[in-house]
Amino acid sequence: MKPSIYGLRKENLIDWLAEHGEKKFRATQIWEWLYQKRVTAFDQMTNLSKSMIALLEENFMINPLKQMVVQEASDGTVKYLFELPDKNMIETVLMRQEYGLSVCVTTQVGCSIGCSFCASGLLKKNRDLTAGEIVAQIMLVQHYFDERGLDERVSHVVVMGIGEPFDNYDNVMDFIHVINDAKGLAIGARHITVSTSGLAPKIRQFADNGLQINLAISLHAPNNQVRTSMMRINKQYPIERLMDAIDYYLDKTNRRITFEYIMLSGVNDHVEHAKELADLLKDKKKLVYVNLIPYNPVSEHDQYSRSGKADVLKFYDVLKKNGINCVIRKEHGTDIDAACGQLRSKQMKKTKKVTA
Ligand code: SAH
Ligand code: SF4
Repeated sequence: MKPSIYGLRKENLIDWLAEHGEKKFRATQIWEWLYQKRVTAFDQMTNLSKSMIALLEENFMINPLKQMVVQEASDGTVKYLFELPDKNMIETVLMRQEYGLSVCVTTQVGCSIGCSFCASGLLKKNRDLTAGEIVAQIMLVQHYFDERGLDERVSHVVVMGIGEPFDNYDNVMDFIHVINDAKGLAIGARHITVSTSGLAPKIRQFADNGLQINLAISLHAPNNQVRTSMMRINKQYPIERLMDAIDYYLDKTNRRITFEYIMLSGVNDHVEHAKELADLLKDKKKLVYVNLIPYNPVSEHDQYSRSGKADVLKFYDVLKKNGINCVIRKEHGTDIDAACGQLRSKQMKKTKKVTA
């Protein structure tokens, strides 16, 4: 299988061209065709020679994804189900925010972290996505707008789809470099957010990467007992180790971190938990932000249900009174299975039924 050219950082493309006796400016031309004019075939790159086009065709494909299902929700959220060359399925979500178009990308086929509330974790990791397959998700969403003659650009990216991005670190970093390139899609680093379940060593590595990308941590609980019950990764990287890595990140970057906290009724939503959380974060108040997230019910995890409104508000008040920045997150596309992994797991079940 030929790799997707979308997976190459600009400098990798320059090197590849040099190995084939081509000049650097060819990379600039190809880059413009891919990311500014956004063509879908090499033979549309009309300022390249026939032999150059043949060389590219011989070695790369452009788009590795096939669009299978598109669902549009009443609030403008669009969910795409894509098929990979090996027939695995992934999903990508586009959200319309006040500040622009934001895309949520998938980084792995399934996820091995196996959090007990998450639909993605139900499907054990099958493989990592290549950088090209992650970039292609952004490109296909952008093409979707281009084809409709809509002059709108994907301006924000969240790495919060299926998979644990720090378990596919190098490909995710290649992806970020490609979409961040000023002469390409030019999605600003400050508009890119990576969410992790808390792989402490990778948080340290990420702190050293030198880009101004936002980091979100799926914390979801204020103590090890509750967190381990929800996220078995907490056994490997308990809260103390996670917080050490976060302190390193904050020291190194001085950038604000978001903590994600799914509100689960009777599990992590007591006032006591809010106090514990405020205590855990009190020495970094200026640099943290807590996102209280409504749980998207997953039928296979029926031990969990969404916290009541009154409990969420009480929790929020405790954090605020303790000087912790905090928001209650708005939901997107609840009428179209917008929670991570839900469209994909539904589609897989349907497929299984058909083939059984
Ligand atoms: N693996 C990474 C990124 C993907 S999950 C991580 O865990 O951070 C992105 C976010 O969606 C995480 O905060 C995750 O905890 C949350 N999430 C997973 N299942 C959810 C559900 N059913 N309802 C609401 N949020 C969910
Ligand atoms: Fe994987 Fe994130 Fe889901 Fe946990 S919440 S299973 S880390 S995708």
